[in-house]
Amino acid sequence: MTLAPDSRAKQDWLRVAGISKKFGNFQALQDIHLQLKKGEFVCLLGSSGCGKTTLLRIIAGLEVQDAGQIWMGSRDIGKLPPVQRNYGIVFQSYALFPNLTVADNIAYALRMSRDEKARRVAELLDLVDLNGTEDRYPSEISGGQQQRVALARALATSPSLLLLDEPLSALDAKVRERLRQELRRLQQKLGVTTIMVTHDQEEALSIADRVVVMSNGAIEQVGTPETIYREPATRFVADFVGRANWLPLSRSPEGKACLAGQVLNIDLPAGITRPVLFCRPEDVRLEAKWQFGSSAMMALVEQVDFHGGVRSAALSLCADRDIRIHVDVGPNDACYAALQTGKRITLTLPADKLRVFSDTSL
Ligand code: ATP
Repeated sequence: MTLAPDSRAKQDWLRVAGISKKFGNFQALQDIHLQLKKGEFVCLLGSSGCGKTTLLRIIAGLEVQDAGQIWMGSRDIGKLPPVQRNYGIVFQSYALFPNLTVADNIAYALRMSRDEKARRVAELLDLVDLNGTEDRYPSEISGGQQQRVALARALATSPSLLLLDEPLSALDAKVRERLRQELRRLQQKLGVTTIMVTHDQEEALSIADRVVVMSNGAIEQVGTPETIYREPATRFVADFVGRANWLPLSRSPEGKACLAGQVLNIDLPAGITRPVLFCRPEDVRLEAKWQFGSSAMMALVEQVDFHGGVRSAALSLCADRDIRIHVDVGPNDACYAALQTGKRITLTLPADKLRVFSDTSL
């Protein structure tokens, strides 16, 4: 059944509505809803097998959904063949034609005169900073350069949608980071709406306007990188993105969260079973001196490691040595020097940075 888009959805440039997909008995995607604004860069993030590539392939028309529609503006493109969907796509493997030169690879999908083609290829080579490589074959350029050629080829017909399936994951870390920045710059310059699949959370957080975190064929959360990192909606997102302390809680008689006998200044919502506290290592505050009141706790420094600019330490609470808290401290922090193995230290957990989840198994 084809439904007319509602008025709110009209503001969305691309709208994925209720997409489901089974492979045999296996539910690869379950009722996926997603809206993109024109010019947005959205990353599909999740661990292997969560369904992100299947969703991208369905948007591309390379896979057929069992249910749901894909609206581009007011048009349901969900049943159109790939060639009518107006997108460019780049896969993880470079997938260039080995027997064609760089220029011929880029020009492959162009239907225009020879002169116009040459002009367009020169323009695209300039765009991806590959001037001078037009006569080389894929085997004569580096992996990073091959991926830039693949990108130029995907952009050749000026598609309105760019689909990227782990385009950087075959590259080494340094090239990958540089290309990530170039990709973002290029995407912003062209204003092309982009969906990129990645399992690399750092990549997703650094490049996307919004991140879609997926697990088991469903969307866990959609949000800006800041929101995903700072305000994870589910235990899965909190655990999957970034590093975190997970600390066992009990309930105080007033319904507050209680850690190792210390009442914290946050409510424990009703209905939470086996509550655990979520706190990022960089949010734990260390105090040089013991502070009475609030939620200050004594801890013992068990181990300290250097990680470039920060010291990472494992602390154990004096009130319960089994409870370990990881903390990251920068050199400008007053407690940086005091962070030494065997020393006692005071810490506080700032209420506005804490979140409580049920300790359900992930
Ligand atoms: P990865 O990062 O490993 O590529 P993904 O999140 O992109 O993972 P998908 O490739 O979308 O995951 O696959 C989702 C699930 O569907 C996986 O369990 C996969 O084995 C299964 N699957 C994908 N394509 C097919 C197919 N053509 N036939 C059967 N099962 C499939």
